[in-house]
Amino acid sequence: MADRKGLGVTPQGEDFSAWYNELVLKAELADRAPVKGAMIIRPYGYRIWELLQAELDRRFKATGHVNAYFPLFIPMSYLAREAEHVEGFSPELAVVTHAGGDELEEPLVVRPTSETVIGESYSRWISSWRDLPVLINQWANVVRWELRPRLFLRTTEFLWQEGHTAHADEDDAMAETMRMLGVYEEVARDVAAIPVVAGEKTPGERFAGAVATFSIEAMMRDGRALQSGTSHYLGTNFAKAFDITFQDASGTLRHCHTTSWGMSTRMIGAVIMAHGDDKGLVLPPRLAPYEVVIVPIGKDAAVAQAAERLAAALASTGTRVHVDTRDATPGFKFNDWELKGVPLRVELGPRDLEAGSGVLVERIGSTGKETVALDGLAPGIRARLDAYHDALVARATEFLDARRARVGTWDEFKARVADGWADALHCGRPDCEDIIKAETGATPRCIPSRAQPETGQCIRCDAPSAWGRRVLFAKAY
Ligand SMILES: [Zn+2]
Repeated sequence: MADRKGLGVTPQGEDFSAWYNELVLKAELADRAPVKGAMIIRPYGYRIWELLQAELDRRFKATGHVNAYFPLFIPMSYLAREAEHVEGFSPELAVVTHAGGDELEEPLVVRPTSETVIGESYSRWISSWRDLPVLINQWANVVRWELRPRLFLRTTEFLWQEGHTAHADEDDAMAETMRMLGVYEEVARDVAAIPVVAGEKTPGERFAGAVATFSIEAMMRDGRALQSGTSHYLGTNFAKAFDITFQDASGTLRHCHTTSWGMSTRMIGAVIMAHGDDKGLVLPPRLAPYEVVIVPIGKDAAVAQAAERLAAALASTGTRVHVDTRDATPGFKFNDWELKGVPLRVELGPRDLEAGSGVLVERIGSTGKETVALDGLAPGIRARLDAYHDALVARATEFLDARRARVGTWDEFKARVADGWADALHCGRPDCEDIIKAETGATPRCIPSRAQPETGQCIRCDAPSAWGRRVLFAKAY
């Protein structure tokens, strides 16, 4: 692939993967790091993360959770206490064997996730039913050694939040698991403008040590799926491994039921690939570092002053606004802000100013260049940005619906998963899932929660279907 100079990126239709890699670098979201698989998140990308963090954190607190921080290093022996957990994570672990100039007595794992160290703490903090539920979230970095890294999608170190909760019984823990899945679904749709399918994972795709794993799956513009958030019901597996017990009201000692749930910087990859086009990023306003950029045309002092006045008026409505005063041509600036996915751009020239107007351009939309009265812009800006968000959701939903189908034959299945999603009946056998993956590249993404009850024959092997519903299959990141 020839390296494109300037601001242009390889068209999606030519090479989606090259489009993605070039865009992440050229839009200044992230940069490659000296260690393979690590990632430098640049300010423009980090601002998106901060905005997503704030939206998630507000919802976590509104559902009764509090934040805490647990250590980066975990004794190796902790991971070994939950057999499936250690087996699942072993290939991805980074282990510290030397520190302070000496070999350590016990190696330390750089956390790949924190169930074990948090579980050990909970065993000391919880003793009575009165202590429950414990609803804690942590904002942190984790390390999972990545052999085939891609910026934001699969990096050795990434940022995330991990919720860890402990409950008296299964009902309460399952309610929590589903509540947080619902929070992720809402954030994806109402903040990132991405419609998602929520459902349970089949056993082969479960989190290591979980009884049940649920995910939200988002469609990228190449038709592939991206798992964008997960919520796990851990049963009493970790409670037994770490002795998390409580005395119930009758004095009987019981194991807690625990959950964990997470969303990560991978979500930025979802935003890039769910909305972006051949001109670059298309950012949903609620995650856009700048919702509006004002480009003054020419060096006229009156224009510069008018741009600043307009920026102040927009900022007073809570809008994130930026005036681009760089020494560059207007054409360069327009292309640059299109590449960076800014929802609205206002062009302000001397002639516009005389008429008390500016030219407004939406990053996506059919209106083209629109002449707007400057004094009317600020009062209507929130409604306009909300409408832009709704248009993005509608566009992504339309795209998803056009590429998702219920399939009844193996030929239909193969054709649909080539560039989209197939809802199919499946026998539930892991070896049949493996055959489907080998022949088509598609894997079961989830058993959609909202699917209608349905039974029949497996799409691949004709055995009786499992799960009582259709399974969503797709090629995935
Ligand atoms: Zn089958």
